[in-house]
Amino acid sequence: MELNIACIPGDGIGPEIVAEARKVLEKVAKVYGHRMNFTDILMGGASIDVHGVPLTDEAVAAAKAADAVLMGSIGGNTTTSPWYKLPPEKRPEAGLLGIRKALNLFANLRPAVLYDELATACPLKEEISRAGFDIMIMRELTGGLYFGERKTYEENGLRTAVDTLVYNENEIRRIAVKGFDIARKRRKKVTSVDKANVLDSSRLWRKVVEEVAADYPDVTLEHMLVDNCAMQLVRDPAQFDVILTENMFGDILSDEASMVTGSIGMLASASLNDTRFGLYEPSHGSAPDIAGMDVANPIATVLSASMMLRYSFDLDREADAVDAAVKQVLKDGYRTGDILSEGCTKVGCSRMGDLLAERIQ
Ligand code: NAD
Repeated sequence: MELNIACIPGDGIGPEIVAEARKVLEKVAKVYGHRMNFTDILMGGASIDVHGVPLTDEAVAAAKAADAVLMGSIGGNTTTSPWYKLPPEKRPEAGLLGIRKALNLFANLRPAVLYDELATACPLKEEISRAGFDIMIMRELTGGLYFGERKTYEENGLRTAVDTLVYNENEIRRIAVKGFDIARKRRKKVTSVDKANVLDSSRLWRKVVEEVAADYPDVTLEHMLVDNCAMQLVRDPAQFDVILTENMFGDILSDEASMVTGSIGMLASASLNDTRFGLYEPSHGSAPDIAGMDVANPIATVLSASMMLRYSFDLDREADAVDAAVKQVLKDGYRTGDILSEGCTKVGCSRMGDLLAERIQ
């Protein structure tokens, strides 16, 4: 298969971690007989330095021309970098918001996985973490409270503010379809999270999710109120497979779920549109404090590349091979500094990439 992949190395540790993910992808291509064409795109601070803006039309066009985009991270030290003396729309983060919008990326996927070998990093009690967990949080990314009308005004001498939470059925249906499709690739369970006891938007959400579920008789659907979900994530995370939810609930729950894994350098993410196209990136930032030191953990980016193989290219076997390589490298006792524990071998970013690539079979 021929895969056209655009890479956005970005800033800080971005170029280092993307280089390692590419190393792993190139090994996948070799072992499984694929052709991968990589195109580099400048975005964020790297683009500001060359073009004076964080995202150019050419960069958007190059991303659109690819089948998928693999990104490192963008941004610099927000207190010392000259990028943050620019007006907000010219800063590195504006590039990220711009590309998400230009590519219509409405579905955000954030896996939260507890690896046996890293279980001690999990802040939950051992009797809970023992069961392990592998959750996919599927968050609607372009609607809801963050995009509705808002205003601040004065009424009867009181400062008053209003935000509007709007969803139409099409916005709900398209994310629900993605959620069920992804559950089919996993353990076939969807937990749809809402606040249907209070909100009209949640009652519509529930109705449309049920309509979509009718087309997926092999996938189990359950509904859960968001407050209960927040509790269940720390009480019994093993019960979840896919959590499907709207923008604000997903924002909060995905951070909660990733915190219970305890390892920022291990967290992948994907943002998808209604084709097979997606933008894949680690959940963490550009870590300017460790940039250029060859100490960053590339695993979150490597796992993002695995999601790209699975969700944009339908290459499940190849994605499984990448996931297995990550598990094996941890089992073999290799760790970057951020996940180091006693008795393990400390390695740098580039060596970790080599070790992962060696384990692709
Ligand atoms: P950060 O995630 O970059 O770093 C937080 C801490 O985690 C730092 O101590 C860092 O060294 C460490 N860390 C992060 N990733 C690591 C890795 N792979 N291996 C080892 N250690 C790692 O968050 P921050 O410091 O708040 O932000 C730094 C910059 O990143 C800012 O400019 C911010 O705007 C940007 N940022 C970008 C994205 C993105 O591109 N999607 C996301 C978040 C933050």
